[in-house]
Amino acid sequence: MDKEVLKSKFLGSLVGTGVGDALGARFEGWHMVEPRAIEAVAEGQEVLAYTDDTHMMIGTAESLVRNEGFDGEHMARTFMQNYNREPWRGYGPGPPRIFRLIKAGEAWDKAAERLYHGGSYGNGSAMRIAPVGILYHDDSAKLREVAYNSSQITHSHELGKEGAALQAYAIALAVHLEPSAVLDPKEFLARLGEFIHHEVYKQKLAKIEMLLNKTDRAKVVAELGNGIEAFNSVPTAVYSFLSHSRSFEEAVLFAVSLGGDTDTIGAMTGAISGAYLGVNSIPDKWRTKLENRLYIEELADKLYESGVQK
Ligand SMILES: [Mg+2]
Repeated sequence: MDKEVLKSKFLGSLVGTGVGDALGARFEGWHMVEPRAIEAVAEGQEVLAYTDDTHMMIGTAESLVRNEGFDGEHMARTFMQNYNREPWRGYGPGPPRIFRLIKAGEAWDKAAERLYHGGSYGNGSAMRIAPVGILYHDDSAKLREVAYNSSQITHSHELGKEGAALQAYAIALAVHLEPSAVLDPKEFLARLGEFIHHEVYKQKLAKIEMLLNKTDRAKVVAELGNGIEAFNSVPTAVYSFLSHSRSFEEAVLFAVSLGGDTDTIGAMTGAISGAYLGVNSIPDKWRTKLENRLYIEELADKLYESGVQK
């Protein structure tokens, strides 16, 4: 693949996370939203401000860049420092409690376990996984390992980790595809199915395939979900992408229009779509207004450079 195309995909995935997150932020918890309303709100904003999803995606990228790979202790500390600087980003109750445990001496890979018995299966580790998906797009074993381990910091339930790995692998597959080539959704789903072992996700992938030729939003929400659980949101993001694979704008507007956990489903859809179509597919009207866009692009550049050197 052409180097500039590949680089554009790295940028697209991280900027896509931010744009999807920011577009969804105003509609969290809504039942459903008309795409026109989402556009109107974005138009009225001077800056598209992101939430904890993108803030933690930035922390993930910062730590991967600094260590030229995964270091659990460092990533946990980076999340903690970023949270302490900007605690108003819409974090749930889990992360600050986990950070307090780590600060008090708990190991980075044990704190989440201690807080939630059996671990959390929320989508909080999948929402921030784009840097892992792009950096390890060529190495699915490493991608899985780092997705699981980075999830362990906050979401240690196997369904939480598997959700993060599924989202990362969807991004990796999207990076691999030539943006100009026709995407075969069934082939894409088959690849995801080979990668994913957990039955809960296998069933969701089958439902995605069944829904591909329908656009009934209520049916999509009923079958795939729009909640905060990883298995009720990662497949929804994959569906939003696959059912609108030629357009970043349409994919993300559809994802947010489903309501529920709109910022996270928007962020995850934007991460996959941006990884497929590249950063230039993100409409200027949104991309140029994204808060901290230059810094997010700088992190994507650095991940690209370290990925090329590997
Ligand atoms: Mg959020």
